Amino acid sequence: MFNFFRSRHRQIATQVAALEKYDIKPALRQRLSAFFQEGDSRELYHANPRLIAERLQISEIETLRLLTVALKEGLVTLHWDLKCPGCGGIDCNMKKLGEMRTFHACSYCRHRHAVDADEQVRVTFSIDERLRKLNPKPDDIKFRSEVDAKYGVVSGHRLLTLQMFRDLFPRETIPPNESLIIRRVAILFTDLTGSTALYSRRGDSQAYTLVRQHFDILFRLVDQYQGAAIKTIGDAIMAAFTEPEQALQAAIAMHQEIARFNQTLQLPSEDQLILKIGIDVGPCISVTLNERLDYFGTTVNTAARVQATSQGQNIACTEAVLDDPKVAAIAQNYSSVRRNLSLKGLSTPLDILYLQITGNREQGTGNREQGTGNRNWE
Ligand SMILES: [Zn+2]
Repeated sequence: MFNFFRSRHRQIATQVAALEKYDIKPALRQRLSAFFQEGDSRELYHANPRLIAERLQISEIETLRLLTVALKEGLVTLHWDLKCPGCGGIDCNMKKLGEMRTFHACSYCRHRHAVDADEQVRVTFSIDERLRKLNPKPDDIKFRSEVDAKYGVVSGHRLLTLQMFRDLFPRETIPPNESLIIRRVAILFTDLTGSTALYSRRGDSQAYTLVRQHFDILFRLVDQYQGAAIKTIGDAIMAAFTEPEQALQAAIAMHQEIARFNQTLQLPSEDQLILKIGIDVGPCISVTLNERLDYFGTTVNTAARVQATSQGQNIACTEAVLDDPKVAAIAQNYSSVRRNLSLKGLSTPLDILYLQITGNREQGTGNREQGTGNRNWE
């Protein structure tokens, strides 16, 4: 028996050591090993990531990143558990997002409901059976519901807006023709002002190099602020965040970093990259398009339209974004202008707040935006 445990411990330690290539620090790897080796088996079966976060003494986002690489290395398995809005029962059978359908029939009460990824779908993780056999399976529903009540759950949507998860598991998508409801997502669009002129002045390849470098900066910031880059469209990106505050923080950092980029390259003022950014928050649906998870709906359209009204170097936010108290607190630190606009394709006029972000730009270059912007502003 002693040998059995020793060999199990060695195997776990060896596999956890493989996480070094993802920059998981030795101290954390050690804590993860110990948790896998000695943890209560009920905490290793359909485990709530927030409980794991507490056991490993790291934040929720660090835990999700750690579990994502652990999943990639075969240390854990992922479950997309689905809570029935009728009876509260949890179906725990889905190992792949590909098994998810638009409608779900509860296996306890047979209630049929449209599936939403933020309130019904929650992600849990189990230790891989090859690493440690939990025998008999500690399927303790009471224990799990107590943990969920204490910590709250991590929604499926949260994991789907984790850039690392999307990068490492691009095939984790819902089947074509199926869709998931997203109750709340912050959608951020960016675009570059004057990029057509930039291409004609600098030539395609030089301009494209600048645009690609700007993409790298934006992708890094989206990830840093816990969002996911959904796609690029020309020189624009679309990103999703579970919290509007994080979208706004990312947007502010984007303006600042692009200003720094312009300065570092000492670009003449007419060639400087200037971002237009728009954010909206609300419900939408998630579907698979071009083999990747994408978002559709009024919130997405509104964010794109709002972005298009920016003249650059500011952040256009809808009223819904500003209704978030954390956003409102941040917005107070910036000068802003409010406009009421009728936007193409949207039925009612929208109140849009433009937060002025000056960044670290050299003197004089900011005038380009103000000159054209203020004329239209009320
Ligand atoms: Zn049910």
